[in-house]
Amino acid sequence: MSVTDEIKSRIDIVSYVQQYVPLKKAGRYYKACCPFHSEKTPSFVVNQDTQSWRCFGACAEGGDLFSFAMKQHGWDFRETLESLGKQAGVEVRKQSPLDKQKAERADALRGLLKIAADTYHKHLLSDKSDDVRATLRYAMEKRGFTLETIKAFGIGYAPPGWQNMLNELTNLGYDEAQVIEAGIAVKNNNGRVYDRFRNRLMVPIRDDRGRVIGFGARVLDPDDNPKYLNSPQTPVFDKSKVLFGLDAAKRSIRDTETAVIVEGYMDVIQAHQAGFINVVAQMGTAMTETQLNLIAPRYAKRVVMALDADDAGQNATRRSLETARQTLAADYTGKLSVDIRVLQIPGAKDPDDLIREEPERWQALVDGATPVADYVINMEMAGLSEQASLPEREQVARRVLPILTASESDLYKQDNIQRLAMRLRIPERDLLRWASEQTEAEKQAAQRRKQTPPPPRPYAGDGMVTSSEEPPPLAIDELEEPPVDYDNDGYMPLPGEAPLAAPTPLRSDNKLERQCLRTLVTTPDTYYAVNRKLRELAGDNEQLRSGPLADLGVADFTVSDYRALMQMFSMSVRQHELDVIEFLRKNLDPALLGHLDDLLVDDGVQITQQMKARFGGELEDLIRQHNTRVKPTINPVDEMIDQALNLRRNRLNREIHELSFMQREPTSQAEDHVSIETQVIISKRARQILDAELQRQHNLLA
Ligand SMILES: [Zn+2]
Repeated sequence: MSVTDEIKSRIDIVSYVQQYVPLKKAGRYYKACCPFHSEKTPSFVVNQDTQSWRCFGACAEGGDLFSFAMKQHGWDFRETLESLGKQAGVEVRKQSPLDKQKAERADALRGLLKIAADTYHKHLLSDKSDDVRATLRYAMEKRGFTLETIKAFGIGYAPPGWQNMLNELTNLGYDEAQVIEAGIAVKNNNGRVYDRFRNRLMVPIRDDRGRVIGFGARVLDPDDNPKYLNSPQTPVFDKSKVLFGLDAAKRSIRDTETAVIVEGYMDVIQAHQAGFINVVAQMGTAMTETQLNLIAPRYAKRVVMALDADDAGQNATRRSLETARQTLAADYTGKLSVDIRVLQIPGAKDPDDLIREEPERWQALVDGATPVADYVINMEMAGLSEQASLPEREQVARRVLPILTASESDLYKQDNIQRLAMRLRIPERDLLRWASEQTEAEKQAAQRRKQTPPPPRPYAGDGMVTSSEEPPPLAIDELEEPPVDYDNDGYMPLPGEAPLAAPTPLRSDNKLERQCLRTLVTTPDTYYAVNRKLRELAGDNEQLRSGPLADLGVADFTVSDYRALMQMFSMSVRQHELDVIEFLRKNLDPALLGHLDDLLVDDGVQITQQMKARFGGELEDLIRQHNTRVKPTINPVDEMIDQALNLRRNRLNREIHELSFMQREPTSQAEDHVSIETQVIISKRARQILDAELQRQHNLLA
């Protein structure tokens, strides 16, 4: 039994929910007004038999004890596990041995780096040689750092020589391999190990918790190359995931709700020294999603990007804006939740120089930073010739519009569209039409991304059903047969009309759910194939598409652990930095890693992965070819679609069954009946479509 099942077997969902929601017993169910949306007649139902809850109203969402606790308290999976574990008296394992090992190794590396940072810093302040004194003079006179700043940032000095730090650290008991792993030493082809940083000004790079994770090092001898040398990627340092200065800037960013992003750490040090403490540096070419998520929308409502004005800088700014739009719009349909601005420094100066020379001007530039829309319009227009054809101009418009429509206020948006219309010589109404098309498409995409579909609207052909009209034809007394499950392994039919039995034993596993998850994790492309199929089946019907035939999601799974895995899987396909399995390994709660391993050790998976690495996109064809020879017409995509449709069918069965019960519930008010009836109709229609499709596929195989 998994930890989650153990917990669920000890905490009854009705008693748990009752602590927060005044439940009333209604037949075999418990009802209340939904705690997650505002309503007058109850559509929130708790089913003690299946230990599940569901909102049949605006939320159209349901789940188990875990999902209720998460939603009620805003907890993540780990917090929920720990809190419920405590309440149930079940010990929740913190980390797997492997995680523990990894964490310990990272701690050791950070310890080593801290010692290195302290040592470099002590050198710089030691006043013991001409080299040191020259370096300190450079830092203070040339860079303009005060002694206080040097101390606050722990700036240091790596003296010339090949093995100073290596010896220092090995004398303290670290072995060479660790010093190399931390990025402090390098091993050359001849096996010689030596210091990476020599005769350089050393700036420790800290993570957002203030722990030293690497170094930025600037040359002192103008003949040395490169000018800036950073720590390499190590188990504790990945420059695309760090914002330099964030540990010091966090509070100021939160207080001012504004973050200013500059390119290099020297800029940050200068800014902080001048009292602009909400400044951080991205240290890479373009901002990544991870970096942005460190500051917005959690702390910053406004992000000002002050990047270099040269071409590379402009390109980086553009890519950063794209990232910002994607990252920030993903959570919110339509508008950007964060006001993104671009700061252009006149005269192609570094922020570093400007802040040192004219600090008051810096503040004015930050305050007057260009809204992202203006910046993008200007940039795009600059690349468009006077004689550009209409298709060329339309292309520009379509590129710019998403950024314009994602801007802060409607008023501002209108203003932007007017200006764009004028500059592109395209009628405003065309732009507005394209914009609304795009917004609509994005909204739908966002809705599909959301794991739980919105409630289906009343279904009556084109029109809406209102309470004054005839309700759609439905035999209300036709109560559902207990659903027959695909593999009889997951769903528990309700016990007839018998009085409440003791909670049915909880399932710790479900074969079909496990199979689907395994396929998703190992061949993530099948996820898109399944969703394409669901959309194809839904056709033009928006209610089916956003309701019972929406994309595969958490709600299709009943096992808590699988739900959590599915949640993480959906996140993994929305990012592009790591492949799905890597992403899961990195982000999955330790308590769930065991499941992941179980999914992966299954036979054939490793071979598939190896093949995938070798053949990439051709894999599907290869397998198809192979299978047609060996085992006609079954390929993993078809198989996955078959499994996923069955999974969805099970879910619809559960929902229809619960809905039918709600219909019979005498206390339900008339208008609830209408909406529940329409939900039943749509769900049944979806189920018919699924059945027909499954039948069709089986006929093909026969
Ligand atoms: Zn609700």
